[in-house]
Amino acid sequence: MVQFKDYFRNPAIAPFKQATSIQKCMRAGGKHNDLDNVGYTPRHHTFFEMLGNFSFGGHSKSRAIQMAWRFLTEVIQLPKDRLRVTVLASDQESYDIWKNQEGIPEEKIIRCDTKDNFWTMGEGSGPCGPCTEIFWDTQNDSLGEDRWLEIWNLVFMQHYRNEQGQLENLPIVCVDTGMGLERLASVVQNKVNNFETDVFEPLFKGLHQVMIDAGMEYSPDINASPHKKIIVDHLRAMSFLIADGVIPSNVGRGYVLRRIIRRALRSGNQLGFTEPFMTKLYPHLLESLSDGSYPEMNFRQDSIKAIIHQEEEIFMGTLSKGLALLEPVFKQKDLMDSKQIPAEVAFKLYDTFGFPLDLTVLIAEERGWTVDLAAVEKLRQKQQEQGRASWKAGSSLMQSKTLEWKEQGIFPTFTGYQREMLTGQPSTILASQSTNDVTEDMILSIEPCPFYGLGGGQSPDTGSVTLANGSEWRVVDVFTPYERGLAIRIQPMSEDSLTEQDVLCLHKGFQLMTFVDVKRREGVAAHHSATHLLNAALRRILGKSIMQAGSLVEPERLRFDFTHGKPVDQIQIREIEDWINAVALQSVQPVVKFPKVSMELCGGTHVEDLSKIYPFKILSEGSVAAGTRRIEAAVGKAASQFFIEQDRMVTRLNQDLKAYGTSTGNGLDLKVNKLKDQVAELSRQYGRLLDKLVKAPDSIPTKQGTLNFVSASIDLGATTVPVKIHELDADIQDQDYYSKRANLLKEQEPEAVHILIWKENMVVALDQKHFPKLHAGKVLKSVLDHIGGGKGGGQPQLARGRMTDQGSFERLVQLSQADEQPVTR
Ligand code: ATP
Ligand code: MG
Repeated sequence: MVQFKDYFRNPAIAPFKQATSIQKCMRAGGKHNDLDNVGYTPRHHTFFEMLGNFSFGGHSKSRAIQMAWRFLTEVIQLPKDRLRVTVLASDQESYDIWKNQEGIPEEKIIRCDTKDNFWTMGEGSGPCGPCTEIFWDTQNDSLGEDRWLEIWNLVFMQHYRNEQGQLENLPIVCVDTGMGLERLASVVQNKVNNFETDVFEPLFKGLHQVMIDAGMEYSPDINASPHKKIIVDHLRAMSFLIADGVIPSNVGRGYVLRRIIRRALRSGNQLGFTEPFMTKLYPHLLESLSDGSYPEMNFRQDSIKAIIHQEEEIFMGTLSKGLALLEPVFKQKDLMDSKQIPAEVAFKLYDTFGFPLDLTVLIAEERGWTVDLAAVEKLRQKQQEQGRASWKAGSSLMQSKTLEWKEQGIFPTFTGYQREMLTGQPSTILASQSTNDVTEDMILSIEPCPFYGLGGGQSPDTGSVTLANGSEWRVVDVFTPYERGLAIRIQPMSEDSLTEQDVLCLHKGFQLMTFVDVKRREGVAAHHSATHLLNAALRRILGKSIMQAGSLVEPERLRFDFTHGKPVDQIQIREIEDWINAVALQSVQPVVKFPKVSMELCGGTHVEDLSKIYPFKILSEGSVAAGTRRIEAAVGKAASQFFIEQDRMVTRLNQDLKAYGTSTGNGLDLKVNKLKDQVAELSRQYGRLLDKLVKAPDSIPTKQGTLNFVSASIDLGATTVPVKIHELDADIQDQDYYSKRANLLKEQEPEAVHILIWKENMVVALDQKHFPKLHAGKVLKSVLDHIGGGKGGGQPQLARGRMTDQGSFERLVQLSQADEQPVTR
């Protein structure tokens, strides 16, 4: 209903008076979190589809109730005697309307308190009001209260809760109803739980097939353990999240996704999977959605699968190692009484093996064990203090330090979007906390707060604050510990100056002056804005299936990972750069929304003027994982720096190549092309000359006159073979020459074994047909053994080695003349 929020408050602006919807719902974090229920209750999913109808002054409470009753009892014909409803105790109007519906006796209209029947959006301000819920009697006594299945919730938006928490009346009562499709299906199809309905049928079939293909034992029972249900449920959740642009990470919604994936993988491990399997289920997910309601699941499937697979590879590697660490704990005798996992183990699982804490808790609970979460948090704290943790936001040390702040209602105003608020502004301390027992590292909440906290891959602001006594403190980190919370972590500029007065001035109510590092912020903002443009450009140039797979924004560069099956070629890189530079030059204002260009929702800081991201330059493009590419780019000053360095290189090349002074002005280009032509021509000529040289007769003068080869024979034990010893021109550098020459010699005179020598090199070449029993490598070895030499080796017909000295030709020849069989073993 979030998209309709403003219509409830002001029905006049609604473009329609009534609406119906089917919407994707995720309940795996925040106020609505059913993650722990999945697999264990018959009715909860992390992802489900909600059918809704809405009225913004189009009809009243009574009409909404009438329509709901008619739909359930007449359209889909549920027996009236298996339905009952709840209303808010103080909502007499709804009670009376229900009383007037046919077939619902008064004892089936149950009055409840606000805990159950007053609907709010979450914490904070927003429309709200009483609700009435419709329940189905599953007639399953063993379920206790859960015998009654809630299928439909009708909310009457009557109030608006303002910032101060007071209820204001809305001008007209609006209607907002929600009914779970999967629950309705279980009722209509008369199933004991949602997972037995046709919604999930293709998924379980698929899972069973994948298990069979993996050679695993399998039974068709889906209720034997929670694991199959967890896998198919989480597959839906992760795939829809990724399709909507969420990527696994360690913060925010990215962490919700990562937790879902890891829980599913652990369930897979419980079933017996040892290899990645999730993406094999994807075709079956598509089958279960085959009515085409969610086309993006189809056309983004490559990207979705790539992201899941990547996560799988990361976690599968450590999952079994982590489980192996945990398993012995359950058998440890000294823990049998407490049945509590030691905090060190839970922390190690989290820190080293990537087990989300809730996963460890889940595994513990399956055995009737617990985890001391507070102790785990302490360990995390300790590590953070040692400066090793990379963990920033999320459920971190910081968050735990500031937990009470949220309860105390500490919500500072972020003023950092306004440039004039960035430096030299007064601010008041709302709350302060030391991060350890020594007061030298403090966390503050200040009002107003111009410092931007970590979010969406954008690095937080840094800067400084000056306390009331004039002492200066460095702002080293900024973070969002809870929704609408903002905290800065500060350290004294110089440690010895820390006085009691400092400590006093850090208390609630004291003033300080704030200074954001504006240069850094501007660099970050420019790269952040550019990231949005890059995302838009990639979709435009490479296609809509591109999805963000990660990003990092720093003051001097940006990094953007995205799903794409092949490298981005040079032409595309140019197109991307050109397009972004063109947009930047148009200087659209205001910027945060980038009209028509990139509409992602974003809370980060952006440039006020897009021209600040000119020029945009891609520095590198490459692969990070299968199906995922990474682009690094720089904008503005940082990109200019790159161009300056490039220009220096061009200048250097111009000088080296003497490219100046050409008439067209494009000297380097012309010069390089000319050089390329020259090189091509030279290598053609060289090739011809080399050929001639290879074929020329041996002609190096030696002590024997111009004759530089000797015919002799060598004794190889059983046989004596004729050899020819050649001394080659040692000045030729090209290795090709020697092997070509060796091949030619053995072709010209196959009856002899040829030994070629230049400098300290020796090659033995022989014709295999003539000497089928000889191996050039072995001949080489026996010659080297005789005249002294190192190792050598090669193929049967060509081998190469090195002699110890260069005068060996003479020695070889002398040996052959002194002895009728000159070279012997
Ligand atoms: P429950 O108490 O059973 O968890 P709820 O009070 O949280 O339900 P609402 O917030 O009123 O449910 O949501 C409206 C409707 O959406 C419910 O009547 C139900 O049909 C459906 N629904 C709610 N949560 C889930 C879930 N986790 N999985 C499937 N359907 C759900
Ligand atoms: Mg619920």
